[in-house]
Amino acid sequence: MKVYSFPHGGIDFDDPTAPVWTSSKTAFLPNFAVIPIVQFSENCAQPVVSVGDTVSEGMLIGRRQGPGSSNIHATVPGRVVRVVSWQAAESYNNQAIIVRTGGSFDKLGKPEQTFGWDTLSPQELHELVAEYGIVEMDGSGAPLNDALSAFPSEAALSVVVNCVFDDPWLVADYVLCRERTSAVVEGALMLQKITGAKQIVYVISHPEKKLLALFQEEAKRYDAPSFFVQVRAKYPQRNHSQLELVLRTFEKEENVQLNTLFIQSPATLAAVHDAIKLRKPILDRYVAVGGSAVRNPAVLKARIGTMFEEIFEQCGGFIDDPIRIATGSPLLGRKVVNLNEPVTKNTTAVFALLKRQVGVTSVRTCISCGECRSVCPVRLDPERLFKSIKGSKQEKNFSRIVECLGCGCCEVVCPSRLPLSTILGAWNKAKTNKGE
Ligand code: SF4
Ligand code: SF4
Repeated sequence: MKVYSFPHGGIDFDDPTAPVWTSSKTAFLPNFAVIPIVQFSENCAQPVVSVGDTVSEGMLIGRRQGPGSSNIHATVPGRVVRVVSWQAAESYNNQAIIVRTGGSFDKLGKPEQTFGWDTLSPQELHELVAEYGIVEMDGSGAPLNDALSAFPSEAALSVVVNCVFDDPWLVADYVLCRERTSAVVEGALMLQKITGAKQIVYVISHPEKKLLALFQEEAKRYDAPSFFVQVRAKYPQRNHSQLELVLRTFEKEENVQLNTLFIQSPATLAAVHDAIKLRKPILDRYVAVGGSAVRNPAVLKARIGTMFEEIFEQCGGFIDDPIRIATGSPLLGRKVVNLNEPVTKNTTAVFALLKRQVGVTSVRTCISCGECRSVCPVRLDPERLFKSIKGSKQEKNFSRIVECLGCGCCEVVCPSRLPLSTILGAWNKAKTNKGE
């Protein structure tokens, strides 16, 4: 089977401090669940409970209010004790409903009732996705309902299952794929029905042969057109634009038509499955916990709303004071300033690093080594763009800055530790906010 790759740049990223790629552990239940009602932007759900109310597991506690927000459900049973808000670092203003855990669980430890979906119409399936507050769980947190509504129903589509693991901090999604293969496949079939997509395309990183075999075996059980594409695990292959590049090459070489691509992560697809087949909102998620400061890195299946402090404690705590705590990946992580911040629907990983892992952080002068250019997957010149932003003179080709993927490759390889992608990303964000 041919292994595809995007044509230019990228890096092979490894990190021995990420959890090993084996299995998940179920995290302890939180004493207090800090359940965010903002998922994606400052568009928050409208709370439908008040302080002092008793809530049951899976009960609706926040109702979506238009695009950017999604329905919010209690992830534990108990009593609402507070509604809080805080400014997350490098992010939007967040709000959460705090529930003190207590009483009996309606779902945890109970046999799961399943609901057939063959006879449901695409519209009915779509409504279930909206009702159970499904969001894109690979980091964006955007409501899936918005993405589904944005696609015209007549568009020829392919649902793409993004099983590309180009970053060791994607281990939680990998473990989910191994443990919940059938849910991921059925979730993809459900999205195929909602969108009217012609086929499902499974993109799997090489050399995950076992994972490929698992998906092939599972997909065979259904009478749905499917393609399997293997790609190199070079970062940022998982990025949607890089994924699209290789799928367009695949299309040409295999003489098939994939048309518009609807790319989703395995975690999102498993959540779609749970909403439709189990009538269950997102109560928990797989989270990778690790970094050099963490005693026992692991993949935890943690309740949404569990505070990071408890998550780290369950992994043996810190071996020494961390110099950096963040979510996501060390390549592009978002800083965590308060360990009371909770696991959200889109927390893929949380890590704590010792000084030795962070290394030299002081910024030096550019030595014009050209490393940043050689790894840029879209062939930008990060050095010149950076200098243009910092100086007053805009270099030739400055307008290409909008093509920056924000992947961070240039910044990682820069021996002078210049914050290249950070500055480029901030510039693009400021322009977008101004509507330019
Ligand atoms: S990698 Fe850093 S030091 Fe090298 S050219 Fe780019 S900005 Fe300059
Ligand atoms: S962050 Fe932007 S400039 Fe830097 S390597 Fe990625 S795409 Fe290129």
